[in-house]
Amino acid sequence: MIPKNHPRYESLVLREKIKKAHDEGYLADSGMIAHGRGEAFDYLIGEETIAAAYEAIKTAVATFILAKNPVISVNGNSIALAIDDIINLSCVLNGKIEINLFYRTDKRVKKIKNLFKKRGIHVLGSNDDELLFIGGIESSRATASKNGTYSADLVLVSLEDGDRTEILVNSGKKVIAIDLNPLSRTAQMADITIVDNIIRAIPLMIEIAKEFKKKDDEYLKKIISNFSNEENLKRSLEYIKLK
Ligand code: ATP
Repeated sequence: MIPKNHPRYESLVLREKIKKAHDEGYLADSGMIAHGRGEAFDYLIGEETIAAAYEAIKTAVATFILAKNPVISVNGNSIALAIDDIINLSCVLNGKIEINLFYRTDKRVKKIKNLFKKRGIHVLGSNDDELLFIGGIESSRATASKNGTYSADLVLVSLEDGDRTEILVNSGKKVIAIDLNPLSRTAQMADITIVDNIIRAIPLMIEIAKEFKKKDDEYLKKIISNFSNEENLKRSLEYIKLK
């Protein structure tokens, strides 16, 4: 048990979640390392949602609402930290959820599918789904559900590897990334990068989505056109440097 008055309580709770996911067999070894990299960047931004991330979140939600076939891509890390928030987001924004694992094994996919099933949620990308390869690239980095990512116009990825993001971007899909590292390949390649911890970003996205769903398309388009991912990433880096 982690004592609640421990100065690093929140951070240690997240570590426990990651460790549990690893023990339960749906998080790959490298997922634990990826978490550590995220932790370091979260430390540098002060473990709070910075103004640049808030702008990116608003733009991401507006883009999501205007998309035709949006998909929320999940992996072991995102599930370990935020499964219930991800489900809530998909309900509010009518997005499909698809499992996409960098180190895909049937066992891991089945375990994640069951976590959703227990919550009454059907997910794409499981072993009995029709899986295709994006751009004909026969690699687990390019697998996609026919009715999900393969035909999606927008994919929300979090804690994602750069290779897969590159494949998604090159196939002409819009990519929203939640990634604490503004320098990662994913952060640099995505159309909209939210430099924030998934555990803070998704609840905020839900809050803003509820508000934005009442707005007209012109309002949403204006938010999108005022946003530059390049500038936003620069702001995040400046913040880290000056902090
Ligand atoms: P890339 O391949 O994109 O250059 P990478 O090699 O660091 O990045 P991974 O380790 O596969 O890729 O991805 C993990 C990414 O997720 C890292 O950029 C890390 O900072 C980020 N990350 C880890 N934990 C969190 C979290 N809780 N919330 C948001 N981002 C996170």
